[in-house]
Amino acid sequence: MNIRVEKIAVPKQKPDEKNLGFGKFYTDHMFVMDYDSHKGWHDARIVPYGPIPLEPTCVTLHYAQETFEGLKAYRTAEGKILLFRPEMNARRMINSNRRLCMPEFPEEMFVEAVKAIVKMDADWVPSEPETSLYIRPFMFATEGALGVHAANSYKFVIVLSPSGAYYKEGVNPVRILIEDELVRAVKGGTGFAKCGGNYAASILGQVKAEKKGCAQVLWLDGVERKYVEEVGTMNVMFKINNEIYTAPIDGSVLPGVTRDSILHILRDWGYTVHEERLSVDDLMAAGHSGALEEAFGTGTAAVISPIGEFIYKEDSVKINDFKTGELTQKLYDYLTGIQWGKEEDKYGWTTVVE
Ligand SMILES: *Cc1c(COP(=O)(O)O)cnc(C)c1O
Repeated sequence: MNIRVEKIAVPKQKPDEKNLGFGKFYTDHMFVMDYDSHKGWHDARIVPYGPIPLEPTCVTLHYAQETFEGLKAYRTAEGKILLFRPEMNARRMINSNRRLCMPEFPEEMFVEAVKAIVKMDADWVPSEPETSLYIRPFMFATEGALGVHAANSYKFVIVLSPSGAYYKEGVNPVRILIEDELVRAVKGGTGFAKCGGNYAASILGQVKAEKKGCAQVLWLDGVERKYVEEVGTMNVMFKINNEIYTAPIDGSVLPGVTRDSILHILRDWGYTVHEERLSVDDLMAAGHSGALEEAFGTGTAAVISPIGEFIYKEDSVKINDFKTGELTQKLYDYLTGIQWGKEEDKYGWTTVVE
């Protein structure tokens, strides 16, 4: 791929690495590439980070033809920059785009573009403990037209955001509201695709959860509201009687890269893993009997987020006395160890940006 580079005139001042928060600062540059049905993908470029002009009738603004990805670049103690399984994000975006009738962005081009923009803004990859450079590739329709149809022009963009720990309190258990009314996704819909529309539909649940003093929502399946699926923007796992349970990837659940990595590690460590439906009633019963030993969400942003309590209708259960479980902590330490180059990468999951 031939990438044209237009450098920023005056580089921005970098934020304090000790107070980054999540997704609040953006680097000097962004990657942009255009698509239209005649020329295909063309004009790859790295340009100063800034606004993108849109037609008021842009299909994205009306019909949400938009998909995105999320991954991170990590600074090792030796100063190298590592990416974690970027090809998984590339393949997932292809699957999301197929569902939304958007053009595919080829896997090799995706990884090349991510490496190029990270290399360009390499001095923005922070080195304080627990910090990383969050990478947000996204694609959206640019055609201006009010008829509902697959647009014939798109933009693929990558922006970068130096970020600290997702939760500023650190890896601490959170309280979760099990949502019994609103649903996030149904099979046949777009639950498996990483698209903005899914998020728009989920915000009301998040608002409800916050009003009840909860950090996130646990979504039940969209048909019976009976089986547990995901926690907010994360996949969710439960340790019940020393075995692991998580929802299967069968249409309504997002196939997380963190989920896949954690399941690999757990199987390697000898755990029995059940990728099968678990009902909310069985979950709450396991909570009350003490069989539910640990619960946690998995996702790139927070990596692993321990769950300390579930609230469901009039009922609630505390997990492990609202303390981070032993396995949860061990998984967090091991996976982030691989990501920051502190642990041997025996699975070959990291790629150096050079
Ligand atoms: C992105 C996302 C996840 C986590 O995926 P990772 O690849 O592990 O970051 C889980 N659920 C939803 C709904 C998501 O959008």
